[in-house]
Amino acid sequence: MTAPLREIEAGGATLLVRAIELNAEGGEARVLLLRSVDDVVAPYDRLQLLLAVITLGGLLLFALGSGLMAQRLTTPLRALLAATQRLSRGDYAVPLDDLDRRDEIGDFARSFDRMRVDIAKQQAEIRHLAYWDRLTGLPNRENFRDAVQQAIQRGSGGELAVLTLDLDRFKHVNDVLGYAFGDQLLRTVAGQLGGLLGETAGKVARLGGNEFALLLAPCTPAQALVFAQRVAHSLERPLAIDEQTVDLSAGIGIACWPADAQDVDTLLSRSEIAMYVAKRKLEGPLRYDPAFDSASAQTLSLLTELRRAVDQGELRLYLQPKVSLADGVPHAAEALVRWEHPQRGLVPPLQFIPFAEQTGYIRHLTLWMFEAAARLLATPAAAGLRISVNLSTRDLLDLELSTRLARLLHAHGVQASSFCLEITESAIMDDPQRAEAMLNRLSGQGYKLSIDDFGTGYSSLAYLKRLPVDELKIDKSFVMGMEHDKDDATIVRSTIDLAHNLGLSVVAEGVENAAILELLRGLGCDEVQGYHISRPMPAPDFMEWLGK
Ligand code: C2E
Ligand code: CA
Ligand code: CA
Repeated sequence: MTAPLREIEAGGATLLVRAIELNAEGGEARVLLLRSVDDVVAPYDRLQLLLAVITLGGLLLFALGSGLMAQRLTTPLRALLAATQRLSRGDYAVPLDDLDRRDEIGDFARSFDRMRVDIAKQQAEIRHLAYWDRLTGLPNRENFRDAVQQAIQRGSGGELAVLTLDLDRFKHVNDVLGYAFGDQLLRTVAGQLGGLLGETAGKVARLGGNEFALLLAPCTPAQALVFAQRVAHSLERPLAIDEQTVDLSAGIGIACWPADAQDVDTLLSRSEIAMYVAKRKLEGPLRYDPAFDSASAQTLSLLTELRRAVDQGELRLYLQPKVSLADGVPHAAEALVRWEHPQRGLVPPLQFIPFAEQTGYIRHLTLWMFEAAARLLATPAAAGLRISVNLSTRDLLDLELSTRLARLLHAHGVQASSFCLEITESAIMDDPQRAEAMLNRLSGQGYKLSIDDFGTGYSSLAYLKRLPVDELKIDKSFVMGMEHDKDDATIVRSTIDLAHNLGLSVVAEGVENAAILELLRGLGCDEVQGYHISRPMPAPDFMEWLGK
C-alpha cells in the first residue's frame, strides 16, 4: 500500500514527502523527496505575466490604430457634410479640402467638388434668366422691382420716379416686318433708353413685350416729366433698321415716390396705369393721377358687362334709312348698334364702342352686327335691301375677318353684294398698306365698300384712287354746317365733285332738315341719311317703316 503524500516545511521551502514505513525485518526505508512546488510553477507564472503584457500591448495598439483610422475617415466626411450644408444654403463659393488626396476619399472629394462647380454654374445661369431679359440684356421686371425697392429703402436721396413706356403699334411692326425685325427694334430702343439715361442715376429695364421702364433716383416729379418728354422726343425720330425706316412712338407713364405711392408695387402699377391713359389720350407723357384709377376700373367693369351683353342678348340692331335722291326710295340702311342695358337703359354706341375698340372686343361686336343684319336680309321682306355695317380699325387688321364674314353669309344664305362695309377714313390711314390689302380682299368677295366720316382724316386723293371703294360718305359735321358755314358748303361741294370724278357715289349723313336736303340735291349728291328722313330704329320698326 502506498504511503500518502505529506508536506514538510524545510529551509523555507515546502517539500512533498512520501514516507514508506519500515517493515519488521529492518528492510530499507525509502523517503521520496519531491521538488518544491514554487520552483515548479515559477516559470509558468512568468509566462502568464508575459502573455498578459502582450495582450494588453496588442489591445492598446488596436485601439490606437482604429482611432487613427476613424479619424482619417470621419474628418473628410465631416468636411463633406459641412459642404453639403453650405450648398443647401446656396453658398457655392468654398472649394472642398482633401482634393489632392490620392485615395478613394480624394476621388470622392474631387467628384463632389466638380458637382459643386457645376451647380454653381447652373445656379448663376438660372439667376441670370430670372433677373435679366435675354433679348436686350436689360434687367427684367423682377430685377427692376428689386432695384426700386432698394432705392426706396435707401430713401436718403429724397424723391424718386418710375417711368414706364409701351411702344405703340409694336404688334403691327412685328406682324408686317417680321419677328426678327421686331427683336432688332426692341434692342435698338433698349440702347436708346440706356443712352438717354447716360450719367443720370437710375436704371433701364424691359418689363416684358414692348414695355420698358426707367428708374430715376433721386428725381423730383418735375424732373421726371422733363426726362419723360426727352424720351418721347427721342422715340419720335424715325428709326432706321436694316434699310427700313419705322416711325415709333410710345405711351409714357410716370409715378413718383413718395407722392404717388408708398411701396414699390403700387408705384409700378400706378406708373403703368398712367402709361395706359397716356397711350389712350395721345397727349405725351402723363403723371399718375388718382382719377385714372376709377377710369381704369370703369373700363374693366364695362368690358365685363359688354361680354355679358353679347352673351345674354342685350345688343340691338338699329337701322337708319339711306334714301336715294334720284327716286326718293330707301334702297339701303345703315346698321347701328344699341345696348339695352338692364339698369342703365339704352346705352348709345359712343359710350362703349371706343372701349370695345381699345380692348379688341369690337371684333365680336362687328360679327354680332353682321350676323344680325344677315339674318334680316335673309327674310323675304328685305329683298333688294342693302345694309351698311361699320368696321373698325381692329376689324381691318384682323386677317381672319373676310373668312369669318364669309362663314356668316353662308350660314344665312345671303350674298356679299347685299352688304356695304363702312370704314372710316382714319381707320384706313392708321395702317394704309394693311387696310388696302384687306379692302381688296373684301371687294373681291363682292362687298360694296364705303369710306365713312370722309373729310375728317388725311387721306390723299391719289391714295383714294387706288382703293377699291364704291362710296364716299361725307361726315355729318360738314353736312350739318353747310347751311350756314361757307367752308363746310365748299367742302361738301368739292367732295361730291371729287367722288364723282373718281367714279364713286356720294352719301351725305346728318341731314337734319329739308333745306339741307335740297342743297344736296342741287349739288348732285346721290343718297342722304339723317334725322330729317328718320332716326335709327329697331329692325322690326324699320321693316314696318319700309312697308308704309
Ligand atoms: P357713324 O358711323 O358716323 O354713324 C352715324 C351716326 O350719326 C349715328 O350715331 C347716327 O345715329 C347719327 N346720325 C344719323 N343721322 C343724324 C342726324 O341727322 N343728325 C345727327 N346729329 N346725328 C345723326 P350713333 O348711332 O350714335 O353712332 C355713333 C357712332 O358709333 C357711329 O358713327 C359709329 O362710328 C359708331 N357705331 C355705331 N354702331 C356701330 C357698330 O355697329 N359698329 C361699329 N364699329 N361702330 C358703330
Ligand atoms: Ca357709319
Ligand atoms: Ca359717319
